[in-house]
Amino acid sequence: MIARVQPLTRTRAVRGPFDYRLRPDQSEVAVGSLLRVPFGGRPSLGVVVGLAGTSELEPDRLAEPDGVLPVGVPPDLVRLAEWMAGEYCSTPARALGLVLAPGATAGQRRKRALIAELSRSGERALDGTLEEPPGTRALTDRQRALLAQLRSRGPTVASELGTEALKRLQARGLVAIAQREIARRPARHSVGSASATPPPLTPDQERALAEILVALSRPGSDRKELLLHGVTGSGKTEVYLQAVQATLAVGRSAIVLVPEIALTPQALHRFQTRFGDIVAVMHSGMSQGERYDEWLRLASGDARVAVGPRSAVFAPLSDIGLVIIDEEHEGSYKHEGDPRYDARTVAARRARDHAAVLLLGTATPRPETVSSCRHLRLPRRIDGRALPPVEVLDMRGQHHPLHPVTRHALADLRREGGKAIVLLNRRGWSNFLSCRSCGRVWMCPHCEVALVLHRAGGFVACHHCGHRERVPSRCPKCASVAVARHGAGTERIERELTDALGAPDFPVLRLDADSSGLHERARTLERFQAAAGGLLVGTQMVAKGHDFPDVALGIVLDADQTLRFPDFRAEERTFALITQLAGRAGRGTRAGRVLVQTLAPEARSIAFAAHHDSDGFIADELIRREALRYPPYASLIRIVCAAADGAAAHATARDLHARVQAPGATVLGPAPLFRLRDRERSQIVIKATDRAAAIATVSAAVDERARAASARRVSVSVDVDPQ
Ligand SMILES: [Zn+2]
Ligand SMILES: [Zn+2]
Repeated sequence: MIARVQPLTRTRAVRGPFDYRLRPDQSEVAVGSLLRVPFGGRPSLGVVVGLAGTSELEPDRLAEPDGVLPVGVPPDLVRLAEWMAGEYCSTPARALGLVLAPGATAGQRRKRALIAELSRSGERALDGTLEEPPGTRALTDRQRALLAQLRSRGPTVASELGTEALKRLQARGLVAIAQREIARRPARHSVGSASATPPPLTPDQERALAEILVALSRPGSDRKELLLHGVTGSGKTEVYLQAVQATLAVGRSAIVLVPEIALTPQALHRFQTRFGDIVAVMHSGMSQGERYDEWLRLASGDARVAVGPRSAVFAPLSDIGLVIIDEEHEGSYKHEGDPRYDARTVAARRARDHAAVLLLGTATPRPETVSSCRHLRLPRRIDGRALPPVEVLDMRGQHHPLHPVTRHALADLRREGGKAIVLLNRRGWSNFLSCRSCGRVWMCPHCEVALVLHRAGGFVACHHCGHRERVPSRCPKCASVAVARHGAGTERIERELTDALGAPDFPVLRLDADSSGLHERARTLERFQAAAGGLLVGTQMVAKGHDFPDVALGIVLDADQTLRFPDFRAEERTFALITQLAGRAGRGTRAGRVLVQTLAPEARSIAFAAHHDSDGFIADELIRREALRYPPYASLIRIVCAAADGAAAHATARDLHARVQAPGATVLGPAPLFRLRDRERSQIVIKATDRAAAIATVSAAVDERARAASARRVSVSVDVDPQ
């Protein structure tokens, strides 16, 4: 038998599969098996992508695999990886790397431990029915307590109760201890409310669920892509839960993608409370061992619901009936490493492969989702409250970072009690520093961007490469000590609000990428939840799905900041950010109010968000995109050439530019991008109506030039559907 093996190598120039001859004792090898193989004179790992009876090469010229690793990949994930390699202009090896069990190539194993269990004699000793042989000492109270604990817990890792004490009981035949495999499970957090039994649905939720169930029962994969378009607070999660319930009831499994577990622990908590142990979770806060064991629980069928961020789309489940993508508008579904896959596109592909229902939920759908999916609506909040009124505040001519109306509203809130969320999509103290006498701006030495002041930490930092310097006291060019600080970030707003309003019973808390670590962020959210009143200041993190019932005021500072990005999605992002933040206010008993400060009060996205008009925004956005040939009316492919030598990067880009002229495609560039991490960059953008043809042309061009580019020390990255 011949195994077609894709070696897991990083090089683009080497592309398999390569044939290996299987020995008779390797008959268990199948598509998806992970093999140790000799490759290019060195041992390597490879994935079997096919089996064949014969090879084009002579049998005695074929090498044999050195061994078979215990855990491979399900065949449907091998096919998915092969498709991803093509769709994202990557290589099969890199795509296969994404679908393997976490740590499989690093020798990850099941954990073994000494497990203690009560023996039958132990049971009888506890019940007092065991006759102790003469000469043995009676059990001490401690030992009796230990046995009782073991009875209530069942089989337990010995070290958790004290291995030595247990071994003494083992010697008396009361406890059995053995080496066994154990599953490492991630810690659980309990944030927000969750119920084990389904609550009654609103009529809107009933209607949406009924449509999902119809799609679920339909054979084949047609008309199974659904958009659950529900305003904030309309109870989307309960619809997800009951749809998963129905999927499990017909014996199929489900994948639930969420933007980021650390920021939305509530959703995970609700799934675990409803479904218990058949929920497996995967996220970056878990150890590799925990992720490996959760992967095995999914692969074995012990777990049938996978909940996690974008990589959970590769959960090794069989017979998937439902794939849910919560907050489908979120940019975090796009992977930034190679292959630069979009989990929403991959999820759609996986759902079709399994004839599963794809359910995308959000209050602010992307225009392309609206145009491709069947539209289900939840137009009302479940608590019956209206969405809060939104006031747009014109900041032109204002010098203080807070508008007078904002300051009044905050002072009223402080007096009357209650909570507010303040969103400013910019970290640090101020945007940039400049010298008052010569005008020098402090720039990153590695990137063409200004350094941002972080006052509390006493440093200025580059938000692109992480470079840090001490806060300058004088200008290195003219020696002036007058250093001006421009603009305001979350750190400065937090300080100003603390000085103006903060008190022990009215904390001002900050949530952004500087408040490091998952646990610190979870604690900040818990403190805000527990406080009677206070402020939560932060970047877009504060707008993500949190459900605090007593937020009376939502404030967006510098709402047009996201509009200034040179990106066709700038409008969509701005609209989503304001709508999502507005959705945090006015839940529960308090009426809400939302203030939006902006230098561009007439901007379309801001005006539509102020009227809670997502249909109007999408209709308008689709007209604009059609006119400009942006998605969904065309596909975009971005090629970036980067090198320390700018001329080499630009020459490679020019060279590729001539080779990527696909039929019906417009090729823009090469255009210089700002220097990043000491590398000059040059970019080409392809707008194509024939997506498959453009991808094929780009792949062929990049593959053909791969060797020449690496000889010039130019790295070439391809991004299909860039964000
Ligand atoms: Zn100066
Ligand atoms: Zn930098």
